[in-house]
Amino acid sequence: MKKTGKNIIVFYGSQTGTGEEFANRLSKDAQRYGMKGMAADPEEYEMGELSRLSEIPNSLAIFCMATYGEGDPTDNAQDFYDWLQENDDEDLSGLNYTVFALGNKTYEHYNAMGKYVDKRLEELGAKRIFDLGLGDDDGNLEEDFVSWREQFWPAVCEHFGVEALGDESSIRQYVLKEHTDINMNKVYTGEIGRLQSFEVQKPPFDAKNPFLAPVTVNRKLNKAGERHLMHLELDITGSKIRYESGDHVAVFPTNDSALVNKLGQLLGVDLDVVISLNNLDGMICSISSPNACDLEFITFLTSNLPWVYNILSKNQIFNAKPSVPFCSAFLQALYQSWVLDSCRSIIHILEDMPSLRPPIDHLCELMPRLQARYYSIASSSKVHPNSIHICAVVVEYKTKTGRTNKGVATNWLKNKLVTDNGHKSTVPMFIRKSQFRLPFKATNPVIMIGPGTGIAPFMGFIQERGWLKEQGKEVGETVMYFGCRHKNEDYLYQEELEEAEKTGVLTQLNVAFSRDQEQKVYVQHHMKKNKEHIWKLVNSENAHIYICGDARNMAKDVQAAFYDIAEELGGMTRTQATDYVKKLMTKGRYSQDVWS
Ligand code: FAD
Ligand code: NAP
Repeated sequence: MKKTGKNIIVFYGSQTGTGEEFANRLSKDAQRYGMKGMAADPEEYEMGELSRLSEIPNSLAIFCMATYGEGDPTDNAQDFYDWLQENDDEDLSGLNYTVFALGNKTYEHYNAMGKYVDKRLEELGAKRIFDLGLGDDDGNLEEDFVSWREQFWPAVCEHFGVEALGDESSIRQYVLKEHTDINMNKVYTGEIGRLQSFEVQKPPFDAKNPFLAPVTVNRKLNKAGERHLMHLELDITGSKIRYESGDHVAVFPTNDSALVNKLGQLLGVDLDVVISLNNLDGMICSISSPNACDLEFITFLTSNLPWVYNILSKNQIFNAKPSVPFCSAFLQALYQSWVLDSCRSIIHILEDMPSLRPPIDHLCELMPRLQARYYSIASSSKVHPNSIHICAVVVEYKTKTGRTNKGVATNWLKNKLVTDNGHKSTVPMFIRKSQFRLPFKATNPVIMIGPGTGIAPFMGFIQERGWLKEQGKEVGETVMYFGCRHKNEDYLYQEELEEAEKTGVLTQLNVAFSRDQEQKVYVQHHMKKNKEHIWKLVNSENAHIYICGDARNMAKDVQAAFYDIAEELGGMTRTQATDYVKKLMTKGRYSQDVWS
């Protein structure tokens, strides 16, 4: 930073790319105030040097910190989090900082990571120069960020005695270069981290070096209905990849080539031309975003426009046309109705607004990179050490404009044939460890609640409990609550579940068919019916409770059902029942693997 005259560093803890995008925007903003910023992945920096920032005059560290899963840090912020926790003696008294937290109110531990970083930096002596910002992805994260940012920069001006330079136009960080005579070995063609890592695969495999796993099974799970629910098996033989039941598999999808071609057509660009985006300040970019990088990271547009189906943020759209006169409230309303509510992707925007034709390189700079998608592993490594199973529903929905939007990863997975023209189809993947674990003692009872695709990790749990039984181990009660729409349509893994019940691996199988009768029947209705049994297992026999699937409604309603049971059978007040469930969570006996 000293060498390049930078005084603002924006660290991001990012799992899906939004935290990184906000960090990039803040670092670019700095120029408007005569300051110089940079975005930084904490995983790639020695965070023990944070205190040395005070050696730079008017310096500031900004933290865009997302919370993931059960109040956890994102993968790339894990080491930073551990460092903050472990170093009580660190003196950060010369450090100026502020935090913007990214989270989702649907989840129990709303913005836990951002709140923790904000509090901990203060405890270690750092000076907060602007209040913690809280972004809620269940509401409007972009708006939360924009309003925080609007107040943040004036506070920076006041603190450091600087002024806005008055240039409101979009600041560019990269310049486009076309390459006609290029060594193709230097061209990225879709690999995630290291150049040509898909041709020469070397372990260890992780988020920056995914393994290309052949697809060995891809079958439709539902017997009827308009949706497509699928079971996939990925072969990890020879990869040295290890996993446990309850872990997540991350897959890197590719966009539909027809959509990419459509984008090229709409923008009038030749997608076979090799381009690079060269950083204007000469800095080499982080390897995590090779498609918006320095000269060395040259990309083929055909395979590396990975974001065509993303719904854009307001910044991305209006930055692409900086001459639009700005009226914040009007634009916000327009963005809400025309983009968000109508689910318009970049292609739809370009189709419906022919006057908008931003240069391809500017779009590349604004768009986030296509992110990995996570799936709860639906197998046990004890039974399937060399394969990873996925249970997923293909995302497809009609928009207000009459279009059909298709989920990127699920439609790409759906079309993954076991062999494609004699070649094995592969999926770039890596494993993300989770806290969703069977009890250490097999004798502890388990209660699993997973309607719809929420059944996924429980297929692994059931396999594992069956395997333990086969090994002659004593295994406690294993109770399953599954729910689906119709018995004859989407009763996922019916044969496997019924077989497990027959062999005694499942000691109780409860299935709620929500749409086979007039009144909805959900998993929690069955739980209420079996309340005495549930209460006995939880309160007297140390049962572990697991919930998987929809975070928005199901997980909350199921939790409320547990409160009701504790109130009724434990003679508790609502507050006591809430505390009771909280304690179970702290003890690792109430675990959730939920998504929205
Ligand atoms: P995308 O292209 O990402 O599109 C999805 C987006 O489309 C949604 O986020 C939403 O913004 C929008 N959308 C979807 N439906 C509608 C609608 N009706 N109206 C308007 N907008 C809509 N999924 C599984 O199927 N099985 C699993 O086991 C599983 N496990 C997961 C575990 C974790 C930890 C997490 C975080 C997620 C998990 N998911 C699972 C979800 C999965 O990661 C993907 O989000 C999902 O498959 C969709 O990906 P996609 O690329 O096909 O869709
Ligand atoms: P699903 O088939 O839609 O639902 C499974 C069962 O759960 C159905 O019988 C459903 O009943 C029932 N249910 C609905 N609301 C409930 C509630 N509050 N409590 C208990 N049960 C309830 O499930 P899915 O397709 O596997 O999806 C599961 C959830 O994950 C969805 O809600 C979806 O939001 C989310 N998801 C998101 C993505 C994504 O793109 N981000 C991808 C996949 C899934 P009814 O439908 O009859 O009410």
